[in-house]
Amino acid sequence: MHRMLKRQLKKAYPNGLPDNVEFSHFIELIEQAYTSMSEELSITERSLDLSCEELQQRHDTLSKILDALPDMSMWIDQDGMIRDIRVGCFNPPLVSKEDEHASITSLEFYKNSVPLQHFLTGHEKVGSKRGELELSCETFTYYVEARLTSVSKHRWLLVIRDISLRRKLIEMQTQRLDQIKRTQKQLQGLINAAPTGILITDESTKLVMVNNYICQKLSLSSDELLGRNPLSFIAKKYRLEYLSEIQKHISYDDTVLDSRLDLTMSLPSNETMQVEMAFSTLLFEDKKLVITAITDISERKRLEDQLRVLASTDPLTGAYNRRSFHELSHKAMSTCSREQQAFSILLLDLDFFKRVNDNYGHSAGDEVLITTVKTINDCIREADILGRHGGEEFVIALPNTDSKRAKEIANRIRQCIEEMRVHAEGNIIALTASIGLVTKTESCDFEKLINQADCYLYFAKDNGRNQVVDEQTYLSQN
Ligand code: GH3
Ligand code: MG
Ligand code: MG
Repeated sequence: MHRMLKRQLKKAYPNGLPDNVEFSHFIELIEQAYTSMSEELSITERSLDLSCEELQQRHDTLSKILDALPDMSMWIDQDGMIRDIRVGCFNPPLVSKEDEHASITSLEFYKNSVPLQHFLTGHEKVGSKRGELELSCETFTYYVEARLTSVSKHRWLLVIRDISLRRKLIEMQTQRLDQIKRTQKQLQGLINAAPTGILITDESTKLVMVNNYICQKLSLSSDELLGRNPLSFIAKKYRLEYLSEIQKHISYDDTVLDSRLDLTMSLPSNETMQVEMAFSTLLFEDKKLVITAITDISERKRLEDQLRVLASTDPLTGAYNRRSFHELSHKAMSTCSREQQAFSILLLDLDFFKRVNDNYGHSAGDEVLITTVKTINDCIREADILGRHGGEEFVIALPNTDSKRAKEIANRIRQCIEEMRVHAEGNIIALTASIGLVTKTESCDFEKLINQADCYLYFAKDNGRNQVVDEQTYLSQN
């Protein structure tokens, strides 16, 4: 009123109040001031009404939002007291019993909750804070995330969100990871105890597990091996075979597919190891793994090779025995006839060998046989085949050799045997040999060929020994 009147007076007398203000005019001014004041009051009243309504509307909207949220909300006052609780759509999924559900949503429960009171301590000093709380109600422990937000000077909003399910999932995941680690440890122990090398590869053929045995063989630690492709330890010529075996196991749906492969591994020490690999598959943690069990068969291979040599050669001289000679020569003859190449056979018999035995003893005779084989071997090529056909009778197959060349070789052998001197039991033994020679370009019966050579050999024996007889010599003298 005072302010309004002052304003009216200032308007009527901008240069200050004169000494003779008319009373009636003064009254008029007061009336005008009253009118404008009452108008201003009614405007203020109306706007206050509006604000109240808006405030109510906002409050209603906020309540609706809070009620629609899956979270539970509580209003906290300055003293940390819970003033109001809005349960919203709070529906703890892991709480089964009705009474437990009721207690978790009751105001009393929160008012008495020690962890919550602890969380609210000092709330008036912070604008907002969050924390994970473990709330226990009778038999059930419930995990919530609490968020406290300051909404005005004296009010805080506390929102409680259910994280029990999330916690449970994390707990289950941790348990599962522990279980996987335990199983892996057991598996590792199991494969370490195996008396063979074990490699476990994943679908990208990378090593995921190895055992001590293979680490020792490769002179590498498991850390150095894991993540590597074992292909680098396979000898080059076997790599394709190995890869296709691994691929077969990865792509097959049948998990009980087992197979084996003999191959050579190249070790980092540049040595090689003959191995037998046994492949099988394993489904582990939904992943398909290939288990390769590696057995060192170097010794077995060595014995097999030794056995093969023993079975195919004559123990005294080391020349092929009759059976092996026939097998190998027959194969060589077939190749020659396919390639239209000449193939020659020499049948050699030592002259008067019986006399060596008679004069110097059987062991001296043996020594002569051994030296004869060495002498013949020095005269022939790698591809030629030398066999002991009988007592002191030898047979030599010469692939890709025509009659002219074969005669040269036969004569060289004959001459070398003539020049050969065998030292046995204090004696120097010298002797000669007779040779029958046949050459063929087309494939023919191998036995017939030998018989032909035998015929020429005995012609040589009958005609003075120490000579080579071929078809030409034979025909020219018959
Ligand atoms: P020819 O010139 O007619 O061939 O006369 P040869 O004395 O060589 O022939 P013969 O068939 O009469 O004698 C072969 C001898 O070879 C008889 C046999 O005792 C001997 N002999 C066979 N195998 C062996 C052997 O492994 N070691 C020794 N020391 N002698 C053997
Ligand atoms: Mg003889
Ligand atoms: Mg003989």
